Amino acid sequence: AAEEGFDIEDVEGAIEAAGHGPLPVLAVVGRPNVGKSTLVNRIIGRREAVVEDKPGVTRDRVTYEAEWAGRRFKVVDTGGWEQDVLGIDASVAAQAEYAIETADAVVFVVDSTVGVTDTDEAVVRLLRKANKPVVLCANKVDGLSGEADATALWSLGIGEPHPVSSLHGRGTGDMLDAVLEALPEAPAQTFGTAIGGPRRIALIGRPNVGKSSLLNKVANEERVVVNELAGTTRDPVDELIELGGVIWKFVDTAGIRKRVHLQQGADYYASLRTAAAVEKAEVAVILIDASESISVQDQRIVTMAVEAGRAVVLAYNKWDTLDEERRYYLEREIETELAQVAWAPRVNVSARTGRHMEKLVPAIETALAGWETRVPTGRLNAFLGELVAAHPHPVRGGKQPRILFGTQAGTKPPRFVLFASGFIEHGYRRFIERRLREEFGFEGTPIHISVRVRE
Ligand code: GDP
Ligand code: GDP
Repeated sequence: AAEEGFDIEDVEGAIEAAGHGPLPVLAVVGRPNVGKSTLVNRIIGRREAVVEDKPGVTRDRVTYEAEWAGRRFKVVDTGGWEQDVLGIDASVAAQAEYAIETADAVVFVVDSTVGVTDTDEAVVRLLRKANKPVVLCANKVDGLSGEADATALWSLGIGEPHPVSSLHGRGTGDMLDAVLEALPEAPAQTFGTAIGGPRRIALIGRPNVGKSSLLNKVANEERVVVNELAGTTRDPVDELIELGGVIWKFVDTAGIRKRVHLQQGADYYASLRTAAAVEKAEVAVILIDASESISVQDQRIVTMAVEAGRAVVLAYNKWDTLDEERRYYLEREIETELAQVAWAPRVNVSARTGRHMEKLVPAIETALAGWETRVPTGRLNAFLGELVAAHPHPVRGGKQPRILFGTQAGTKPPRFVLFASGFIEHGYRRFIERRLREEFGFEGTPIHISVRVRE
């Protein structure tokens, strides 16, 4: 490495940074307008227009990576979530519920210029029940004169209020120190490491694609495991189901089985549920209604699973209803609308007739195997050497940036760090990803590639 112009610490640091396992999750909750989004932007160091959220618009992306004092974690931003549709209390309750299910610690934001409201009190009760560490952020303390307002928040009974101005940055450092103390090193959900622990599947898809029908089908035909398995903790919303001779944990099935039909906001709740299930799972089985056009909502769900770094299986349901013509158009739609997951194994099923149910497990196993693939450094560099020789990066400004060497820093999903002599263009990165997939498989898994450029 040294002769290539990188010093060894550089290389080790980059590998460690890229190879991290799952990160602990911090959720930011609170009433609308207390400054959650502003705070999240400060935590993740994003400076651009913050408060872009319009009522009625749910942002696709809720999770960001952040770093403080050398520790990395995920931040869940609930600030952009729906407020009008459900009413404030329901919206805040949903945030808290999400936080409880997915987070390792919670930052509870209160507007100290307003003081404690009934809604704040209600959130505190929810958080208490959740038994997760909570850091209390007394926001909008823009100057010394606001400190007294912050002190008043001791009355919430959840410990020290940290006076913060998310807008100006005042006090955020001290608060983040407290967050790091509250946050475990690794998430409570350990990924596939528990010996004999069932693998976790999230069965997701937009409303009415057939999730509940599929779950019933597999749970009825195969034996539903009612007994606790030794050594496994079981969430009441998770279900253990034996399929193909193996026990799987279907996470968050309460959201599937529960037929709550809210007049409004049902989609909103569905998307929260989906996000929570994806966070808890290793593999997402994404159900798509093959009888209807692939929609933006389908794509959003796919993106959610990919961005979360989960293994992915695509199941096209209601196959029993397809005629020749629909089948033709479906294939075209898959090519154009779901190109981002062209690598995912696919099954064409019918929850109604049971068609191809037996193909589900092999597809899941394939995706999990891809997700866990590790390429030895020697093989990777032999491959990179040949690739770079045969297809050099285009010359830019009289210089030719070159990939010098690389290593796989982690799995679940596979993460690579490549070291280069200059800036590597996006198109070339995509090319490398494509060739990596051709060479090593990675069926059913997203892969991450980060590039370090020699100074
Ligand atoms: P959210 O709905 O909880 O995500 O709140 P936003 O982050 O959208 O902030 C709501 C409003 O409060 C915006 O106008 C922000 O500029 C403002 N705000 C947020 N943090 C602070 C702060 O620390 N001090 C002051 N004075 N205003 C703030
Ligand atoms: P969920 O909202 O995703 O849980 O969807 P449901 O399981 O409630 O299914 C929605 C509707 O689609 C119901 O009327 C089901 O009977 C129907 N359905 C589900 N799977 C199939 C299938 O494979 N074929 C057909 N023809 N209908 C299905």
